[in-house]
Amino acid sequence: MTTKIRFAPSPTGHLHIGNIRTALHNWMWAQKTSGHFVLRIDDTDPERSKEDYVTGIQQDLQWLGLNWDSSFRQSERFDAYEAAFEKLRADGRVYPCYETAQELDLKRKVLRSRGLAPVYDRGALDDSAEQIAAYEAEGRTPHWRFKLDHDARIEWDDLVRGLQRFEPPALSDPVIRRADGSWLYMLPSTIDDADHGITHVVRGEDHVANTAAQIQMFEALGASVPSFAHTALLMGKEGKLSKRLGSMGVSEFREQHIEAQSVLAMLARLGTSDPVIPETDMAALIDSFDFQRFGRAPAKFDPEDLMRLNTQIVHKLEHDAVKDRLPAAIDADAWHAIRPNIAHLGEVADWWAIVEGPIELPEFSDEDRDYLQSAHDMLSAQSWSDKAWSELTGGLKASTGRKGKGLFMPLRQALTGQNHGPDMGELLPILGRNVALRRLARAAQI
Ligand code: GLU
Repeated sequence: MTTKIRFAPSPTGHLHIGNIRTALHNWMWAQKTSGHFVLRIDDTDPERSKEDYVTGIQQDLQWLGLNWDSSFRQSERFDAYEAAFEKLRADGRVYPCYETAQELDLKRKVLRSRGLAPVYDRGALDDSAEQIAAYEAEGRTPHWRFKLDHDARIEWDDLVRGLQRFEPPALSDPVIRRADGSWLYMLPSTIDDADHGITHVVRGEDHVANTAAQIQMFEALGASVPSFAHTALLMGKEGKLSKRLGSMGVSEFREQHIEAQSVLAMLARLGTSDPVIPETDMAALIDSFDFQRFGRAPAKFDPEDLMRLNTQIVHKLEHDAVKDRLPAAIDADAWHAIRPNIAHLGEVADWWAIVEGPIELPEFSDEDRDYLQSAHDMLSAQSWSDKAWSELTGGLKASTGRKGKGLFMPLRQALTGQNHGPDMGELLPILGRNVALRRLARAAQI
């Protein structure tokens, strides 16, 4: 059987770290099983769904490299939902409810005050025909609930959580349709998963109780029930994910020069028994991906870990993987020289500004100018190699008796215009002999 997986974001906001992780889990499972990955846009809520978010979600997934094999929108599927709804209604599996939000709220409060779980009491099932007629005369329209089968215990073997059991009477019959006819998430999702032959539903554990009800919906629709994997949610270092961290998404990653690969390498392993490592090969991550390796404990997300991982990954990236984002003049050799000295790709620009110039020189003392003249003469006499910097500074140390800051700082300032920055031993070969000599001469005012 071919695996068919879906990622189903609602276009009511941007993708954030939590749903990027879910997208990645789905995508990896599809890759691992040579399955089919569907992007489903859950846009049944016309008020909160925005076209910009749809585009944003698509672009974010593309940036991450999480390509989908097919895609559709729930807003294209209203006829299918209507037909399934009519069938369930004819079978007595959905029923109209006339309670107002305030009435329901009051019921829940009463139950809670008695220390009971706020489970819906199915009051609507007792409404008489006269009562319903009276509501209708008042102008009330019903919302609709799915009627759980109280006699069928719900069980599934969750790929992450193991055996899950729910007693239906402990659950409220879920509201599936609002009084204005619009759909809530639960039923359309099940209809789509059934019609599209989804084999695995992979999502966060905040959906576990939904799954219990949705399993009965699959059965009521006469569809086969997919496998489920509910992963533990992400947490911050010290507990619940803060709003700021929780809403982190691709635009922040890009602003902070975090590579897509760093996000993938981290999220692929977070919450599993495998360590987060600076893996640049997705095939290796996919190969080791397994729901069995996920733990039940929340996965801890720390953006500083992501930064650190990003630096490690940048240090491993080949020129080919980054050249599109580098100044064209940075060839593979230059990249290899720069690579170990930067924390992220954004720093390449700082390096390159120094290499390209123009640089601004500080005021040098007469003494330093003499020193820079010696440096210039020594460098011009020296044969040029990758060791140019250590040869030059070694020679100057011996000939001038300077050491430490006095030895290095005027050279750095003359060659880069700055007091700190890239490792000079790495930079000098990239600058090249002519530029280095010109800058020294200029600083020494020769
Ligand atoms: N649109 C739902 C959400 O974003 C989908 C959940 C699911 O995967 O079924 O929570």
